[in-house]
Amino acid sequence: MPRLAECAGFCQGVRRALDLALAAAAEPGPWCTLGPLVHNDAVVEFLEARGIRAVERVEEAAGSGLIIRSHGASPGVLAAAQAIARQVVDATCPLVKRVQTLARQMVQEGYRVVIVGDAAHPEVQGIVGWAEGQATVVASVEEARRVTPAPRLAVLAQTTREQETFFDITRELLPKSLEVRAFNTICDATRKRQQAAREVCRDVDVMVVVGDFKSSNTATLARVCADTGVRTYRVERAGDLNPEWFAAGARAGVTAGASTPEWIIKEVVDTMVEFEENAARDEAQENQPEPQAQAQQEETWQEPQPEPEEAREQSFMELEAEMAESMSKGMERGSILKGVVIQVSDDEVMVDVGGKSEGVIPLRELSVRDLRSAREEVQVGDEIEVYVLRWDDDGTILLSKKRVDMKKALDALEEKFHNREVIDAKVVKSVKGGLLVDIGVVAFLPASHVDEGFVRNLDDYIGQTMPVRIIEFNRAKRRGSQVVVSRKDVLSEQRERQREEFWSTIEEGQVRTGRVKRLTDYGAFIDLGGFEGLLHISEMAHVRVDHPSDVLSEGDVIDVYILGVDREKERVSLSRKRILKSPWETVLERYREGDIIDGKVVRLAPFGAFVEVEPGVDGLIHISQLSHQRIEKPEDVVQVGDQVRVKILGIDPVEKRIALSLKEAEGSEAVDYEGEW
Ligand code: SF4
Repeated sequence: MPRLAECAGFCQGVRRALDLALAAAAEPGPWCTLGPLVHNDAVVEFLEARGIRAVERVEEAAGSGLIIRSHGASPGVLAAAQAIARQVVDATCPLVKRVQTLARQMVQEGYRVVIVGDAAHPEVQGIVGWAEGQATVVASVEEARRVTPAPRLAVLAQTTREQETFFDITRELLPKSLEVRAFNTICDATRKRQQAAREVCRDVDVMVVVGDFKSSNTATLARVCADTGVRTYRVERAGDLNPEWFAAGARAGVTAGASTPEWIIKEVVDTMVEFEENAARDEAQENQPEPQAQAQQEETWQEPQPEPEEAREQSFMELEAEMAESMSKGMERGSILKGVVIQVSDDEVMVDVGGKSEGVIPLRELSVRDLRSAREEVQVGDEIEVYVLRWDDDGTILLSKKRVDMKKALDALEEKFHNREVIDAKVVKSVKGGLLVDIGVVAFLPASHVDEGFVRNLDDYIGQTMPVRIIEFNRAKRRGSQVVVSRKDVLSEQRERQREEFWSTIEEGQVRTGRVKRLTDYGAFIDLGGFEGLLHISEMAHVRVDHPSDVLSEGDVIDVYILGVDREKERVSLSRKRILKSPWETVLERYREGDIIDGKVVRLAPFGAFVEVEPGVDGLIHISQLSHQRIEKPEDVVQVGDQVRVKILGIDPVEKRIALSLKEAEGSEAVDYEGEW
């Protein structure tokens, strides 16, 4: 079996042009393309059969719809087309458009434009037109040597050129100008095809490159293969193959240009398989010792079969007929169909989409989630919507459920983006510069949008679900994430809302609940729900507080009284003392007349000694109650700091007085009381 290059055949640009052409053909005609849509006769015939003919000049398109092919056209040709044709469909490949725009920009910035490419190729002719006719086209290093020096040079490449040639020519041009700007505009499809072809060449003895002889990228591919030293043949169709190229045991490889349809590649591969089998059979025949056995084997080999060319023609026609039938049923690539799951294995799902063929969804195309088995997503009998990816060689349709899910998810997200809705996002993992979050599709949350302040460790957020808003939505983006979200936006908005609400409702005299955010020497900052107020140390308690940490800890949730509001300076002063009962208000709950209690002498006066009964509650031992004997002054009996046992003679909470007696307590036991203040 020949080894087929991983990347071969139609590129995105060609597929897009074909899709646009077929979509145009569904509209009222007539339709034509300016030059063959792609450089491939089979495709041109295919289009002709659908009423799209190729014309050489714009004038021939008068009264018709005109399709500009993927190679693009110069501005002059486009203007003429607009003026003459009934309708113009521009199928220029976006990657070619990019080169055209660059060419114009460079000319406008004063650069001499050098295009590495084939001057006769329509893509290059179009780019020259965009460079206002002021570009020089070079195809080789020799031609580059002849480029006259210029103060500023801009080097661009035809999208299908070989990379090494572009580099060599650019190197050659470097000494010719003080400023050389080189844009590697060789498209990714071309690069990948060249790379894949080189890889196959490493393992084979003979290489076949399939594509139209007029196709530039096919010619480049053939050159790339030949340069590896492998015997290389270029064919347009299977009929160009020569069985002598494939000796028995020779390993063969196949690649195809970006304008070669799959059915031609299939036709070529099938024929090569046939040649290989024939060669092997011939070799076996040569080594066959028994004439009788040989005769038997020949009989087997020569079983009546359709003539190979005929058979190929038949299979090609069948394939085309199938394609036509499927297209008429809306099963062309890119359509979305309803189907019923008829079989589920770990790796794939079979779906009945109502056509002759069954569709297959490989595991990687089943879900936007990472699955270990297809059984995690669907079951036999489920009705699902699927996207047609392509027709496979054996006639099955390759389908994707993931793309439908993705499209639906993106549709919903686009609406949310426009409506600025807040959505929940689950953090999946951290990457360079931010986090990946799941919002139905995987979106990017830049590190600077994770929080309002600097985020030290992004990994801390993994597994969390957080509210976010979509700040960038771009379906067309091919690199990076199509959806970018911000949590910071949501947090800032919440904070602003809270701030507004706070200032519109806060009033002096209110009691609010807050959380101790920060302690300082002079007080505590209390978070009142997005805004902080100051609880001064003097307002913390009815008793003297040496340091806020004596009565509060960070994180404590407490009630506070709104002492003052300064909206202009955005300051709020708080009190806790105002809402705490003073010890005098509850003193009667704890003490009664006649109680014997312990206290500490805190002050002396000529008329007696003041005793601290508990913090904030002092009582007086009148001088007459200090001793049974007559004394001159209180110091004769007690000193400041003495612990004394006293009897309560009377309590007056209103006047905040307690009368005590030392002499009446002598010899008594104190009341066992654990006081509160
Ligand atoms: S080869 Fe590249 S540039 Fe050309 S049509 Fe294909 S994708 Fe576009």
